[in-house]
Amino acid sequence: MPRKLFVTTALPYANAPFHIGHIMEYVQADIWVRFQRLQGHKVNFVCADDAHGAPIMLKAEAEGVTPEELVAKVAESHRRDYQRFGISFDNFYSTHSEENRELSAEIFLALQKAGFIETKTIEQFFDPVKKMFLPDRYIKGECPKCGTKDQYGDSCENCGAVYAPTDLKNPYSALTGAKPVLKKSDHFFFKLSDPRCVEFLRAWTQDGKLQPEVANKVREWLDSGLNDWDITRDAPYFGIEIPNAPEKYFYVWLDAPIGYLASLRNYLEKKGQDFAKYLADPKVEQIHFIGKDIIYFHTLFWPAMLKYSERKVPDNVYVHGFLQLSGEKMSKSRGVSVSPQRYIDIGLNPEWIRYYFAAKLNAHVEDMDFNPDDFLARINSDLVGKYVNIASRAAGFIGKRFGGVLSEEPLSAGRELKHKMRGNLAAPVPDDEQAPAILFEVRSFADAIAADYEAREFSKAIRQIMFLADRVNQYVDEQKPWEIAKEAGQDAALQWFCTLYLELFRILTIYLKPVLPKVAEEVEEFLGLKPLAWEDVGTPLKTGHKVQPYRHLVSRIDSKQIDELLEPPAEAKPEPPAKASVVAEAPEFKLEPIEPPRPPVILPVGDTISIDDFSKIDLRIARIVDAELVPDADKLLKLTLDIGIESNRTVFAGIRTVYTPKDLIGRLTVMVANLAPRKMRFGESQGMVLAAGDGNSIYLLAPDSGAMPGMRIK
Ligand SMILES: [Zn+2]
Repeated sequence: MPRKLFVTTALPYANAPFHIGHIMEYVQADIWVRFQRLQGHKVNFVCADDAHGAPIMLKAEAEGVTPEELVAKVAESHRRDYQRFGISFDNFYSTHSEENRELSAEIFLALQKAGFIETKTIEQFFDPVKKMFLPDRYIKGECPKCGTKDQYGDSCENCGAVYAPTDLKNPYSALTGAKPVLKKSDHFFFKLSDPRCVEFLRAWTQDGKLQPEVANKVREWLDSGLNDWDITRDAPYFGIEIPNAPEKYFYVWLDAPIGYLASLRNYLEKKGQDFAKYLADPKVEQIHFIGKDIIYFHTLFWPAMLKYSERKVPDNVYVHGFLQLSGEKMSKSRGVSVSPQRYIDIGLNPEWIRYYFAAKLNAHVEDMDFNPDDFLARINSDLVGKYVNIASRAAGFIGKRFGGVLSEEPLSAGRELKHKMRGNLAAPVPDDEQAPAILFEVRSFADAIAADYEAREFSKAIRQIMFLADRVNQYVDEQKPWEIAKEAGQDAALQWFCTLYLELFRILTIYLKPVLPKVAEEVEEFLGLKPLAWEDVGTPLKTGHKVQPYRHLVSRIDSKQIDELLEPPAEAKPEPPAKASVVAEAPEFKLEPIEPPRPPVILPVGDTISIDDFSKIDLRIARIVDAELVPDADKLLKLTLDIGIESNRTVFAGIRTVYTPKDLIGRLTVMVANLAPRKMRFGESQGMVLAAGDGNSIYLLAPDSGAMPGMRIK
């Protein structure tokens, strides 16, 4: 049964073009969505511009346009850019829409009826010149703690103190410079502190669906008590008017998440489908992808609002960390940033950055580093050097020698052909009608790779795919088609081998299709196939099928292009206070920094040895081709290592407390290849893998990208 998925990304604020962090989030969600579609599931993937709030109103005013005009202009750039990065939103709408106005009003009235809305009189700073209440970020003054001038109304940049705007000394309006006055106003509050809400949220956030680090953070918030939430802003405000409350508007953070529903409704109704009926279907899974800064809104306010207005609550919220640049926090004002517009404008391929993000993303709330050297290496040596390389090695022969026609011999004929051909074609294969071992191996990864995509462990999926690409290249190297090509009477063999390489390439293309949609499309065109789905892994290319002339798929990155990308923009303007300023009501989400564990005791350096002593130790790069648990040995894993010359060295390693077999298969590590074999209760250990640390913290060594099994370490 196909799943029914309603998936969103966070809504971008409509006051500026995308920054690269937006693109990372969209790519993460898009890969997951495309993977689901490849599995045959039905997805509605929507987004919208978050169009309301004081910052937009004030920015429009400063530019001499209406807020609607400002928002429309930004929306245009947003639409252009998400398409340029291959993001497959079904609908990209706006919170400034009739659907959103209706839904926000309905939800508010339902909450009011259920007793979750309370009116309180509050006192706020009011700008007597501008005739408006001032958001915290538009009030400045002297820090009440250290006296530093020109500090914002919520916190001091000098001493870090956090305070209320009314605590500032000599406050003034950042808009007009006027001295603000305190003024009363009646505001609606959503009663998040209501025991019913708290009880529901405890259950909803602690039932194991959220990522553990997110659930822990939310538990801290729940334990320290939830505050009621001020959902009102006074006119003038660019937003949605509250029903039956003239001059009162919904705070932008109330109607922004409702924008998910508004965008979905707009989309379904355009297609002639019933929005209410769709969401009433218990099979529909509602999934939100967000950044770690807006967890509070999405795991507390949002599910509570939906629950008590009797709507479907989200099934999950998937949180990612922030993107950094070479280890530094991204900041446009400090010139530490990568502009997605510039990325495209200077001709960098969007599939490259999609691949790079995929190679680094996992299911945790970890910050990700954009490292230019790493980016270059992963594209040039992995994507192009390994994956694309397979196609270019085979396509030339198929095109020039055989007019694009694939072998008439089925791929399972490997064994009969072997007699006519050189090389060790088919190692023993457990089943599969004598298909060559390599084909069997590459196909056999389909489930494991699918499981990693499903779990958002994209970096693991990519690692496995590149492991397979390595295997295929290694296989081509062994078969040496360029030498077969020189021999008389070996045409059929050459054609068959190249057909096999293209089949292997086709399977790898399916595995990469969620990440590289454009490349996959070009491969489908080249191979003359209709769009590939995941289940096509087991449907090989037809015998005698004709392929199109090969055009190069992805080119290498030139390091000059990276220099151009990172060149600081000509005018680095300070950033205007953005949406973050209005987020101040929610406690900031701080992940406890994950300190690398320090060894408790650092041992002194050992006795000096000679170079001859060292050279007796034969250290080799080894590929972990298999890893399994050892019955009755809770510290051991049985590893099978490929060291180039031999492909089945068995080593028992005491790393089970830290690694699972799944983490290890496909990885490269370092082994002592000439250690005397040792008989153990479970079998013979034929060497040793190297790791740092002690019993509790073990870090398996790994070589830099490019090292290959069998290389000697000197
Ligand atoms: Zn201060």
